[in-house]
Amino acid sequence: MKCTAIVLAAGQGKRMKSKVQKQFLILQGRPLLYYSLACFQKNDEIDEIIIVTGKDSIDYCKNEIVDLYGFTKVRNIVEGGKERYDSVYAGLTACSADTDYVFIHDGARPFVTEEIIKRTKEGVLAYNACIAAVPPKDTVKIVDDRGIVTSTPRRSSVWSVQTPQAFSYQLIKEAHDLARKEIMCDITDDAMVVEKYKNVDVYVVEGAYENIKITTPEDILIAEKNLEKIYKKS
Ligand code: C5P
Repeated sequence: MKCTAIVLAAGQGKRMKSKVQKQFLILQGRPLLYYSLACFQKNDEIDEIIIVTGKDSIDYCKNEIVDLYGFTKVRNIVEGGKERYDSVYAGLTACSADTDYVFIHDGARPFVTEEIIKRTKEGVLAYNACIAAVPPKDTVKIVDDRGIVTSTPRRSSVWSVQTPQAFSYQLIKEAHDLARKEIMCDITDDAMVVEKYKNVDVYVVEGAYENIKITTPEDILIAEKNLEKIYKKS
């Protein structure tokens, strides 16, 4: 059984307001993208890695990350697209023909762990579609265009979704092929494509509150502190 991680690093990261794209910001001496790649490289559940990045960053990824840190599982570094789902599709088409399962991961989430990958793998083997998520700590409200609360979902039924999101390769590829025949909009995670176009059950496994996506400058401070803690321990 072949499992491929697609690690996404083709975003512009506009909310970071930085000249350097956020996936390449240097944290504790290494580019942000290094950390999630290191986790997939080390993990025995994963056989192969595809990196999706901007056209101008392919050489940097190869020379300054993949070769420098010896990420031998990286099979391909490919150019992403305008939207996240375009980048995912680029990653899907770059997978080896014999890929059985894909683990799609935001390169901007450096704190993915071996345990999260293990849980996601168990879930995808059982359900063909499995996502990591955490219960929100706050109550969530549904609010209309006027800013008026229309309902309050039961807290136990609401989850904040993270990555990795894992799927049988055939399922997610077919879902994307169907989706690409239409005008896609408001697709904010990978499971949405499967929910909409394949009508299959998507199973949720526990992610981790630490598995944050580095999005705004405040996240950098949190990430620096966490990395310092992790590196001091090991
Ligand atoms: O923009 P956002 O933080 O939601 O992006 C999540 C992840 O998806 C990031 O790792 C980013 O690099 C990636 N992405 C991508 N291609 C895009 C947009 C985002 O690979 N067009």
